[in-house]
This record gives sequence, structure tokens and C-alpha cells, in this order.
Amino acid sequence: FKLPNITNEPIKSYAPGSPERKELKSQLNALRATVVDIPMIIGGKEVRTDKLMDIRPPHDHHHLLGHYHQGDASHVQMAIDAALKAKPEWEKMSWESRAAIFLKAADLLSGPYRQRMNAVTMLGQSKNAFQAEIDAVAELADFFRFNVKNMYEIYHMQPNSAPGIWNRTVWRPLEGFIFALTPFNFTSIAGNLPGAPALMGNVCVWKPSKTAVYSAHLIMEILKEAGLPDGVINLVYCSGPTASEVIFSHREFAGIHFTGSTQVFNDIWATIVKNIDKYRSYPRIVGETGGKDYIFADPTACPREVATAIVRGAFEYQGQKCSAASRAYIPSNIWPEVESYVQKDLAAIKVGGVEDFTNFVNAVIDEASFVKLANAIDEANKSSDAEVIAGGHYDMSAGYFIQPTVIQAFKPDYITMREELFGPILTTYVYDPEKVDETLDILDKTSTYALTGAIFSKDRTNIERMTERLTHTAGNFYINDKPTGAVVDQQPFGGGRASGTNDKAGTIFNLLRWVSPQAIKETF
Ligand code: GLU
Repeated sequence: FKLPNITNEPIKSYAPGSPERKELKSQLNALRATVVDIPMIIGGKEVRTDKLMDIRPPHDHHHLLGHYHQGDASHVQMAIDAALKAKPEWEKMSWESRAAIFLKAADLLSGPYRQRMNAVTMLGQSKNAFQAEIDAVAELADFFRFNVKNMYEIYHMQPNSAPGIWNRTVWRPLEGFIFALTPFNFTSIAGNLPGAPALMGNVCVWKPSKTAVYSAHLIMEILKEAGLPDGVINLVYCSGPTASEVIFSHREFAGIHFTGSTQVFNDIWATIVKNIDKYRSYPRIVGETGGKDYIFADPTACPREVATAIVRGAFEYQGQKCSAASRAYIPSNIWPEVESYVQKDLAAIKVGGVEDFTNFVNAVIDEASFVKLANAIDEANKSSDAEVIAGGHYDMSAGYFIQPTVIQAFKPDYITMREELFGPILTTYVYDPEKVDETLDILDKTSTYALTGAIFSKDRTNIERMTERLTHTAGNFYINDKPTGAVVDQQPFGGGRASGTNDKAGTIFNLLRWVSPQAIKETF
């Protein structure tokens, strides 16, 4: 069969007066006026406990959006049992049916559910309308659709045969179940982490971030409506250690699909190693972790372009993207101009709740994040090695608001030039234009992570030199553009070093991790 034509989901503008804006506003109002009750979904059934956890908008934490039901180890075990029970049927289902379910889910998401999905992501994760649209709708629909296209290509990858022999490859799913451990910052990633293995015929236990339960639950609702059989994906809410204990000691644990912090991923590897004798097969470990993503301008770079990359690359979604620029190396010949553009742009940026569509920066995800970021700003204010040249923080009485903040470091190894903060703070180091090579060396040496990076230059020779010099510092490398906003099927996303296993979400490489191919030789 030929697949339907698959292209990237077009982004809606939400311009004043547009029908999508009106609809989104009314969804936001409706959700704010309700207190929702969110159960776990195990074996297709709603599971409730007596432990209710609040869901509150990070930008307005006095407001109660609803509750979710917190589970314990017994629920994780139930989820594994339900997954293993659903497995034989799901494995047997034709790939066309599996494809149809995910294609339909993408259509539901970009059609009737579009504004509800945007609204839950906006309120639950404090994401503005545009950032929600490119993530929760467009990117998630893209993941579902392009995974289908890539699955189709994988299944059609078949070996050659010789006279009297017919060789073929069966793209079998893994034995056992997959654990999807998903982040708050992208609804699309949260949906793709269980979605990709499931499409390839696997069954999953899915534990979303506690700060993104609202959108995770809606993804499950959409998948169910699209026809996903009960038990293929099981959604549980519990603490990390609880899930870890049950899952990583289970004989049928077949793999983990993860996005989150480097520390948690390191702990996961260690736990898996410790339990390695317990498993039937070597588990697949696929993860995207932290970043300390950079902008590097050379002396020929355009100051206006660099300033735009800083403002958009560092501060969209409050810098809570693994790809967000958090350090910049700018030569002193263009720095005054870059700085004045940045200051001008920041002066025009509004910080506040998602309900007012003119706010560019909203709240950071929770109190722990707020405290960490506010401390980094306070420390920089006290340090003689750095100066806060724009921004700052509010108190957190109404919401977790941090202003878009620029720290100028006087030493290239100042702490915020090296350590990930995951918030709207960019640190800049101004270097001597005669010392491009030395500064590139510093950048490379301080790149513990290697997720994204952007270089700016108008000189072709320099572009080539910098690209070569920085090749291992970024899995996604941008020339004259900000380092965020990778589009599925256009800039396959993922990094190396401490940033993850670089299996490139939404591509064939990722899907290949969720199959264990069998090569069959038949002799006539
Ligand atoms: N794919 C996203 C981007 O390019 C980032 C994903 C992440 O934060 O994990 O901005």
C-alpha cells in the first residue's frame, strides 16, 4: 500500500480576531472554570486512588485546575501486567492498523482537539499560545505522522536473495515492555516517547512528569479515541524511585525511552547495570538529556541577527528547552551593538500569564526551578566575576516568574557558562576578536553537553573552520540561526556527550531501537 501524503502540520497564527484565537480563549476560560479529576489509565481503565495531587498553573499557583490520582508500586505493577496482557494481540495487529491509529490520532489532535490540547499545555505547563501550538499540536502530530512514514520505510528495507533462496527480514517488536519516562517541557516529546515504541508493535508503561499530567492524560484520551487498544500504553503517576524500583527489576523490562535530566539518566544506567542479570534481553536505553547550548559569533557576524538569536533562542518558553541557548561568545567589536539590540528587545518583552496573549515570557515550571534560577541571579549579582546586565526575578507569591536575564561573565569558566540552569538566563562572554581560535578551544573544552549550538558569521572560510572545530559540541548545529525550534523530518533532534544517546527523535534511527529484527533464510 502507499501511505497518505505526509507533511509537516501547518502552524496557526493566533492573530487578534482569528477564529483559532477565539476558540482557544474560550477553551482557556472553560478549563479555568472547572476543577478536573484526572485518573491513571491502566489496561484502558480509569484508576483512582485516595492520594490526590493538585494541578495548578505555574503562573497562577493560587488557582486550582484540578487533581490527579497519585499511584504507588502496586499501580506500576498493574501497568506492567496490563501491558504484557495486551502484547500478543497488539503484536499481531497489522502494521496498517497500527499506522491508521496514529495517523488518526494526529488528525484528531490537529483537528477537533487542537485548542483543548493547546489550552491544557498552556495552563498546565505555562506555555504561551504560539509555543503550545508549535509543540503540543504541530510537533506531536508530526511525530505521529512521520513515525508512520519511517515505519513504512523500515518494513520495506529487505535483503537481497540468491537463486533458490528467499531472504527476508521480520521487523519484530522487542520482547517485554518499554518504559516511557517523559518531561514537562514538550507535550510532543511526552507523546512521542510511548508513541514511537507502540507504533512499532511494543507495549508501554508511561510515567509523565508530575508537572505535565494534564496534557499527558489528554494525549491518552486522543489515542483511545483513535482506536489504540486497551493496555498498549498505560499511564501511571508516581514518584521516580517507586517506578524505578518496580520497572528496573522486572524480567520483562525491554527498554527505556527517556527525556529529562542528565543526572536522572545516569542513575537509570546505573540501576539497569546493577540489575542486568534479571532481564530476558539487553534493554534498549534511549535518552535525551541536558544541554548547555551555545551561540558563537565571529567578528564578521551581523549584530542584529545575533541579538535576535539570543532573545528567541534563550527566552522562548522561559529557556526551558533542552535546546535553549544559555551561553554566548561574542567578539568585542560587535558586542556594544549586540547588547543594545538585546536590551531594546528585552525592554519590549512582557512577562506574565498565558491568558494574556501579549506575554512573551511566562512562568518557570515550579518552585524548585524558581529557587534555583533566582539563586543563580543573586549569586551573579554578588560575584566579581560576573554582572547581571538585564533581567532579574520577582518574588514567587503569584507565580514563578523569572525575567529574561542576561549575565555577563568576565571569566569564560564562570559557573553559569558551564552548568545547565534550564530557565530564562543567558550568560555571555565577550572575547577578543583576535582570539577566535582560543575561544573556540575554550568552548569545546567546557562543552560537557553537546546538544545544540549556533554559529554566526558572514565569512565562508570562518564558517567552515568553526563548523569543523565544533563538530562534536552539538548534535544539532545551526549556522546563522538560533539553536532552538528543530522541526520533525527537517532537523532531526538529539545530541551526544552528556546530552543523550543521539537517536534522533522522529527518525528511522529512533524507530530502529524499538525493533529486534529477525533475518529469515528460506531455501527452496
Ligand atoms: N526539539 C526542541 C527544539 O529544537 C527541543 C527539545 C527539548 O527541549 O528536549 O527546540
